[in-house]
Amino acid sequence: MNGMSPPRAWIDVHLEAIAHNLDIARQALPDTELMPVVKAGAYGHGLEPVARRLDNAGISFLGVANVGEARRLMHAGVRTRPFILGPTFPEEREEIVANDWCCTLSTIEEARHFQQLAEAADKVFPLHIAVDTGMGREGFLPGELGEAAAAIASLPHLEVEGAMSHFPAADEDVPYTQKEIALFTDCVATLQQYFPLRYRHIAASAGELGYEIPVANLARPGLLLYGVAPMASIYDGVLRPTLELSARVTLVRELPAGSSISYGRTHIASVPTRVATIGIGYADGWSRHLSGQGARVYIGGQYCPMLGRVTMDQIMVDVSAAPQVQAGDVAELIGPHISVSEVARLAGTIEWEIFTGLGPRLPRLYH
Ligand SMILES: *Cc1c(COP(=O)(O)O)cnc(C)c1O
Repeated sequence: MNGMSPPRAWIDVHLEAIAHNLDIARQALPDTELMPVVKAGAYGHGLEPVARRLDNAGISFLGVANVGEARRLMHAGVRTRPFILGPTFPEEREEIVANDWCCTLSTIEEARHFQQLAEAADKVFPLHIAVDTGMGREGFLPGELGEAAAAIASLPHLEVEGAMSHFPAADEDVPYTQKEIALFTDCVATLQQYFPLRYRHIAASAGELGYEIPVANLARPGLLLYGVAPMASIYDGVLRPTLELSARVTLVRELPAGSSISYGRTHIASVPTRVATIGIGYADGWSRHLSGQGARVYIGGQYCPMLGRVTMDQIMVDVSAAPQVQAGDVAELIGPHISVSEVARLAGTIEWEIFTGLGPRLPRLYH
């Protein structure tokens, strides 16, 4: 097999569950168009297969992080326009204009550069004006917007087809988010003096779940497509999990009381213990921050606690409660019995980081 070892750990991806979660978002927001966010390899699920599944699903854009991801969508034959969510480098813009990829403006200099490139390409290039209503990451400040809009409106090769912002605290600060909605509504009114603004968007999953945003007609769901609602909501219980992370036992041994387990010897067996070594580690995205936090795997019909520190390629688990477990058996690390939210909580992070940390060494099997 080309010098490849059979996988010790892998991901099963359920494309139908992602499509189902998109439908849930659509039913909840019947008058809103959707930009499924597939950046970072579709949150670890695999960029091309997920984008191909959602292509033609009545969506307006696919949200990507950068030009490299837009290019990959193009090469995969995906027809939906990629929307590059972050700022662009000058040297990327000729390719962006040539392919009609959508992107945002945060400065007049960017607008002038796109104007030149669009003129050279003899076309009118559509893009979106970003407004910084509180995220501090990109966009014009609301106070600069009137002047900027007038300047951009004088550039004949640009067509401003949208206005966008992004909530920094939709899942943490309701009053601030409500103020931002009012501010974004004002910003849209300012821009509409110059541009028709076919698209107006500010909400990711949490904004979409928690708020009425009459000014918006496009939403950018990411996490909820992958089965996790970032706040308690009507989506609880209806989203479907989209992946399972599994790994195989490579060895089972009986260790006597007093044995130390893994780096730093943070775990010492107080009684004789049946220890399974499992072929997954932090190089696969099973975070080292899970060490000593009560993380567990599900194997042989039992929850079995992880012992000691996560190593690069392997973990050790106490299978004393599941004595039938043997080398070759499959352990669930994320799946029906262990949620990505549990893993994120124990690792002291968020579900987004667990998903996107799932490494390239893990084969993705599509169902
Ligand atoms: C990542 C991202 C999203 C999707 O966010 P979720 O919280 O995963 O729904 C939407 N919009 C922008 C600008 C983003 O960067």
